[in-house]
Amino acid sequence: MSDTEVPFRILPQLTDLNRGFWTGGAAGELRFLRCQDCGYYNHPPTPICPRCHSKRLESEAVSGTATLHTYTVNHQPWMPGPELPYVIGIVEIPEQDGLRLTTNIVNCPLDDLRIGMPMRVTFEHHPDPDGDVYIPLFEPAE
Ligand SMILES: [Zn+2]
Repeated sequence: MSDTEVPFRILPQLTDLNRGFWTGGAAGELRFLRCQDCGYYNHPPTPICPRCHSKRLESEAVSGTATLHTYTVNHQPWMPGPELPYVIGIVEIPEQDGLRLTTNIVNCPLDDLRIGMPMRVTFEHHPDPDGDVYIPLFEPAE
């Protein structure tokens, strides 16, 4: 996706906890905060691992593959932004049971959408003076 055709989005404020997630796309990587003691992927990120209470959390890349858990097609112009209709999806990340991401599904005709279909991450680059943001979106893997 080239920088000239990215839709308007309200960008996240980068923090030490979420920076890896929102900027990993610069390296083509989908990254989550991961506990260095028990290996749990902690998303949305919190300062303490919800499983073992460790504070040793680091941003780590996953494969970038996913399956489509569920989706809805939005026809309502809630805000200036993506062309209508667009697809809001929840994808399941294979690295951990229950690790899911709410995202937009792109590059897929609506009639081709199927729950359980294999997806892969793609990034939408938003240059920003406070730090470039790469929004992780998902598209069909084939
Ligand atoms: Zn842990």
